[in-house]
Amino acid sequence: MNELSEQQQTTLRLKLLEQETSLQNLLKENKDTSKPVQLDQQALGRVSRIDAIQQQKMAIANRTNQEFTLVQIMQALRKVQEDDYGYCQECNMPIPYKRLLIRPETNLCIQCQSAYENKT
Ligand SMILES: [Zn+2]
Repeated sequence: MNELSEQQQTTLRLKLLEQETSLQNLLKENKDTSKPVQLDQQALGRVSRIDAIQQQKMAIANRTNQEFTLVQIMQALRKVQEDDYGYCQECNMPIPYKRLLIRPETNLCIQCQSAYENKT
């Protein structure tokens, strides 16, 4: 077991469930963002056309991020059930509660996370 208290675990589990729901709703709402941008030459100048394309790129990147986070949340929730939640996937050390509060879906401790980010 992790050193998380029962209450801390409950708090984190509720956070995860909350995030799961809101992400699922977000993804449902944004279903059409990956459709091609309507390039209305009449209505849009060159600059706003570029804007529109950039906005769409951002929307797609956002969506990819959201989908990735959702997967992480679902994995975290499964770990909660298996009593295996709150450990770093890389080094197996317990992830501090303070970090989990900010990013309950994380599966890496800060050290491994920054090592990972430096690699990519
Ligand atoms: Zn680690």
